[in-house]
Amino acid sequence: MITCYSYVGKTGGSQVVSLSRFGCVYHSIVEHELNHALGFYHEHFRSDRDKYVTINWQNIDPTTKSNFDLKNTNNISTTYDYSFVMHYGNTAFSINGLYTITPTPDPSVMIGQRQELSTIDIKRINILYNC
Ligand SMILES: [Zn+2]
Repeated sequence: MITCYSYVGKTGGSQVVSLSRFGCVYHSIVEHELNHALGFYHEHFRSDRDKYVTINWQNIDPTTKSNFDLKNTNNISTTYDYSFVMHYGNTAFSINGLYTITPTPDPSVMIGQRQELSTIDIKRINILYNC
């Protein structure tokens, strides 16, 4: 079974970041999980996300709706980042292949990239850890 996961933020003492040898050991997935450990939620959980994306609840597998929960996040004065490695792609957890997340106002904006840290991501880590 492939398990790639991490808790969000420090939970006290040492903690596990799970990266199965098969399926998780890719540059971007390691970055994604380590970003969780550093304290970052998925970008579409952001408190202000409804200004930047539309969640299409009718297309989401009902058993996975918690993957689209809104959180009361501290956005440390950074703009919403469509290119964040923590943003899900358009059809994440889709039950019918249609978009679960649509960027607004421009639906053609790329989301869900898993290539590299974005400029805003690097800025956030630096702000959060006073680097
Ligand atoms: Zn994640």
